[in-house]
Amino acid sequence: MKEIRNGRIIKGIGGFYYVETEEQLYSCKARGVFRKKGITPLAGDLVEIRLGEDGTGYVEEILPRKNFLTRPPVANIDQLIVVTSVCDPSPNTLLIDEAIAAAEDKEIEPVVVVSKTDLESGEWLRDIYEKAGIPFFAVSSVTDEGIEAVKSLLKGKVTAFTGNSGVGKSSLLNRIDPRLALETGEISQKLGRGRHTTRKVELLKLGDDTYVADTPGFSSISLEQCDLVRKENLQFCFREFEPYRNQCKFPSCSHTCEKGCAVLQAVQEGEIHLSRHTSYVAMYNEVKDLKEWEMK
Ligand code: GDP
Ligand code: ZN
Repeated sequence: MKEIRNGRIIKGIGGFYYVETEEQLYSCKARGVFRKKGITPLAGDLVEIRLGEDGTGYVEEILPRKNFLTRPPVANIDQLIVVTSVCDPSPNTLLIDEAIAAAEDKEIEPVVVVSKTDLESGEWLRDIYEKAGIPFFAVSSVTDEGIEAVKSLLKGKVTAFTGNSGVGKSSLLNRIDPRLALETGEISQKLGRGRHTTRKVELLKLGDDTYVADTPGFSSISLEQCDLVRKENLQFCFREFEPYRNQCKFPSCSHTCEKGCAVLQAVQEGEIHLSRHTSYVAMYNEVKDLKEWEMK
């Protein structure tokens, strides 16, 4: 008896893929044809599996991916929560904006969460991100401020978290669902542990169709060189530029320094936050001279 099932890969270890289906979790191998074609099944992939008599299965088909990240490898992310703490470590708006742009570029919904608001108010960050039209939440794992709001944001979605080590991602996830029991702690200790481990992604199930992508030892998705946004796409990754970018004097305007740039004018008039535009210029200058192969 051979049967076909649909499911989602929640993790891959040593050539085995753990596929969750409606009724149970199956441990599967991938068909050799994937290796021949240079395709690697990823955590997050929606797949068709064929069951053998012994209850194990083979991944037969990978359904088209909505998106994927390369480092660490994970597919079909709906939402990226960019976590930054009000202090300790202090926020870096460029890193936040890079993560948001990478998400926008891959059609992943970005969300900004500012943590540790028991220590300081993060209202200046709210000003920046609400003005940009990006969902913004303030949370504290000490007072539980905002925990329920973030929890309801996760329902029915596959969510990845990003943010520097020590900003409180694991603490936040543990407040959202204590069953996760993620390790939390001092920055130096966690970095020491994480450095030499390969970064694998595992989808943690929080409820029906609700998953959080976790990289054990890190609990964060970091966006690196390969997820840089191309120069031509960058302006589309700043959603608040949208009403202005076609109003510039020159059609090829880079919105960094040109005369008659409607985006720059909106910055001057306070319609676009200076902090966001400053990040845009820094990112533009970083990618403008990169060659195709350097983006890979
Ligand atoms: P991660 O590296 O982003 O997963 O951060 P952790 O969750 O491990 O937290 C790093 C440190 O910040 C730990 O010492 C936590 O106790 C502390 N921390 C986390 N969340 C909060 C918070 O909301 N308020 C305060 N005051 N400290 C926090
Ligand atoms: Zn312009």
